[in-house]
Amino acid sequence: MPFKLTVLGSNSAIPAFGRNPSGQVLETDNSAYLIDCGEGTQMRMDEFKIKKSKILVIFISHLHGDHIFGLPGLITSYCLGGRSKKLQIFGPHGLKEFIHTTLNLSYSYVNFDLEITEIGTEIAAEIYSDHNVMVEAVPLKHRVPTMGFIFKENPRRPKLNKSLIEKYNLSKEQIVQILNGEDIGMDEEWFLAPRIPRSYAYISDTSYAPEIIPHLKGIQVLYHEATYDEDKRTLAEERYHSTSVDAARIAQGCGCSKLLLGHFSSRYHSTEPLAVSAKTIFPNTECVHDGFVLEL
Ligand SMILES: [Zn+2]
Ligand SMILES: [Zn+2]
Repeated sequence: MPFKLTVLGSNSAIPAFGRNPSGQVLETDNSAYLIDCGEGTQMRMDEFKIKKSKILVIFISHLHGDHIFGLPGLITSYCLGGRSKKLQIFGPHGLKEFIHTTLNLSYSYVNFDLEITEIGTEIAAEIYSDHNVMVEAVPLKHRVPTMGFIFKENPRRPKLNKSLIEKYNLSKEQIVQILNGEDIGMDEEWFLAPRIPRSYAYISDTSYAPEIIPHLKGIQVLYHEATYDEDKRTLAEERYHSTSVDAARIAQGCGCSKLLLGHFSSRYHSTEPLAVSAKTIFPNTECVHDGFVLEL
């Protein structure tokens, strides 16, 4: 099963240098999860060949425009396109009013099952689960109530160790028995290779918040906002955003294998200096831009 991340927007409030405001998609076999929906998100989905109909759930981190101004347009497209599947949206208090007001004032109507759930932003909690993933929301430190999201894949069946199966010339029946956990008179476990469930955390927008580290332990890949480089630390603190060094400290603390940086200020044409600063603390860091894809 794929577990594929595509970045749709990687800038902060003002789109610049080909970078749109926040939006990401995490895709599995038959489902996709949209994380934030800044202006231009649905166009980016078309551009990067992501089927909009595949989106089951949308997770909104907070109500700043660069994270939600794409929502009314996307919902309207679903109405016009004859969506039949239910759509769930999770986000902070005020999300229902925002969606209903924009749709009502623009004479739009929803003709499919739209379920909006407002989540508490004070404590970390599991907010969603299905046959693929479990999602936990974690409070962040921003000017308005904001949550980060942690996606954890459900445990997967181990895969077969093909070379050992060939070596011992197992029959099809025996292979099926092994997969079903049945006894074949040999050490069945030996023919199975365990698969580590994949995990991804989306942390945007926030000032440096080491209190989230315990929630991020064991995460494979961390996306963390890095609006500014280290020389703009004062500005970052005033505006409740992070520097790339803050992001690296969080990555170092949680022990993830890879750090992705985004939500860049429009002052940066090249974001490479932010990666250079972060790498002094966490070497496996990458600045990600619109169109970035990672198979976890
Ligand atoms: Zn933002
Ligand atoms: Zn914000």
